[in-house]
Amino acid sequence: SPALARAEGLIREIPDYPQPGILFRDITPLLADAEALRATSEALIAPFAGQFDVIAGIEARGFLLASAAAIVAGTGMVPVRKAGKLPQPAVTIDYALEYGTATIEMHADLEPGTRVLVIDDVLATGGTVAATLEMLEHLGYPVCGTSVLFEIEGLGGREKVDDHPLHTVFRND
Ligand code: IMP
Repeated sequence: SPALARAEGLIREIPDYPQPGILFRDITPLLADAEALRATSEALIAPFAGQFDVIAGIEARGFLLASAAAIVAGTGMVPVRKAGKLPQPAVTIDYALEYGTATIEMHADLEPGTRVLVIDDVLATGGTVAATLEMLEHLGYPVCGTSVLFEIEGLGGREKVDDHPLHTVFRND
């Protein structure tokens, strides 16, 4: 659609951020645009229509997209947070980053059987989404799939998370 094409043009490329050699995709111009935000929210959920009851958004930009998408879908959202930010974490998972490790946590307040769609802004190596899927599996919530705004291809991310359906709206091809 024209709105989606315009939205793609609103993802800004920042060279050498946060480290030399990294091309950072900055979605803040897209978020600031009403039509682009609506079109991308709709595109994130479309393939999974009727298959989820709640959206899990990954800190921090995933919160923004998950909230917008949840309102469009008519569901709520659940934050998947970096370690130490939640008052009652039910699960904590450590995972490998390119350099070092990270930890994410979530609450487990959902009814058993609640179907979850995972949303994040960027898929790079896939470590963050894979850890989120592992956490949801550990809690026993059925996951319908993952939807990501921008897929950086060639880093193995897709292969790491595609034991569940994966939808990406934009990619660097
Ligand atoms: P991964 O775990 O290597 O797939 O990295 C994905 C996580 O890092 C996501 O939560 C993203 O928000 C963040 N990330 C990685 N690259 C970028 C980027 O170019 N722009 C914005 N966020 C990024």
